[in-house]
Amino acid sequence: AFEGLAERLQGTLQKIKGKGKISEADVKEMMREVRYALLEADVNLKVVKEFVKNVSDRAVGQDVMKSLTPGQQVVKIVKDELTELMGGEQSQISFSTRPPTVIMMVGLQGAGKTTTTGKLANVLRKKYNKKPLLVAADIYRPAAVQQLQTIGKQLSLPVFALGTDISPVEIVKQAIEQAKEEHHDVVIIDTAGRLHIDETLMQELKDIRAIKEPDEVFLVVDAMTGQDAVNVANNFNEAIGITGVVLTKLDGDTRGGAALSIRSVTQKPIKFVGMGEKMDALEPFHPERMASRILGMGDMMSLIEKAQANVDEERAKELEEKFRTQSFTFDDFLEQIGQVKQMGPLDEILKMLPGAGKIKGLENAKVDEKQMDRVEAIIYSMTTQEKTTPEILNGPRKKRIAKGSGTSIQDINRLLKQFEDMKKMMKQMTNMQQKGKKKMKMP
Ligand code: GDP
Ligand code: MG
Repeated sequence: AFEGLAERLQGTLQKIKGKGKISEADVKEMMREVRYALLEADVNLKVVKEFVKNVSDRAVGQDVMKSLTPGQQVVKIVKDELTELMGGEQSQISFSTRPPTVIMMVGLQGAGKTTTTGKLANVLRKKYNKKPLLVAADIYRPAAVQQLQTIGKQLSLPVFALGTDISPVEIVKQAIEQAKEEHHDVVIIDTAGRLHIDETLMQELKDIRAIKEPDEVFLVVDAMTGQDAVNVANNFNEAIGITGVVLTKLDGDTRGGAALSIRSVTQKPIKFVGMGEKMDALEPFHPERMASRILGMGDMMSLIEKAQANVDEERAKELEEKFRTQSFTFDDFLEQIGQVKQMGPLDEILKMLPGAGKIKGLENAKVDEKQMDRVEAIIYSMTTQEKTTPEILNGPRKKRIAKGSGTSIQDINRLLKQFEDMKKMMKQMTNMQQKGKKKMKMP
């Protein structure tokens, strides 16, 4: 398993906390960790070396921004540099001024060409309003033609296929003719791959390329192949020339360092990323997100710092004692809500958690902060006695509070239940902790 950069930097960060300038020694120590993190994420060694040098040059002697700690500042520089290295957002596609636009998919066997051909056609239709024609030009891999036909059926998109007895060059020629006749404005060619790069394959791809200069040649690369992906990218680029890269299988357990290496070695943009086997699992490439992923940090750093700044340890101990003795009141509850709020919008905090990127739908998640406001309003409308002994809250009292806080009796009942549950849970937790402590003391 990977260890995130955040954890790696932890010790170093502790040492330089509170410094006003970043020294060369600080940077050196941190860069060692950065180097490990990048290598672990499968970034090419040459790329790592150059990268670390660039970051060091930038970081040494910098004044630390008021809002950041030195550690955060270095992490920020690292992330910014990574983002820049991977280029801006480049998911645009070059379309021909004289349709059909020709897009050629190339790559090794199993990289995801056929699947991505379908996904891309889907994007082109949905987002660009295009009328794509898919071309089955892989006549070697068993059932490759059928595979594309199945995908076409699934998407209700036409697939041009002539079986496996006719040469790929001839297939593509006829496909482009048909596209013109039937007014397809984009032709996506699914070509053959090999397990390894060989001359025959490259020649075939060059021949297909020569039929009508493609507007895009997308190299499809499996992100899981890590270092190998760089060589593959280099070879394809040198032999036939590529215009962009699609990095597939990023839904898997990979840090995605290949993205960085491919980009720096070939200088060709990564345009899309494959996030699953389904036909809607193709996303534009976001350099910044990829930088976070490579560093494995979410925005862990800033989350830790925020939390530390806002939660006073003394007070936390007091609260724990209150939980334990069950003297926790609604006033304490209110204070806790205040602390959580100080940390910033809850949905932002959620997104900073490592691994949050993998939780589907989180990018659109909105934590209900109105709900928190409602809770606050209810507590503010309670009398001191009600806050310390909520048991006395009867019908008329609840009615009064509901009116005063602009909420309903149901809102109040829900809050009371949550409060009780929380007290119970905290009691259990503190009991467990106490037991744990006792156990540890035993010889
Ligand atoms: P090709 O040989 O390059 O045409 O590769 P295929 O399109 O046949 O894909 C090979 C395998 O990888 C298939 O099982 C696909 O479903 C799978 N695959 C392709 N893209 C992705 C992706 O982004 N995520 C995951 N999890 N699987 C993918
Ligand atoms: Mg295929």
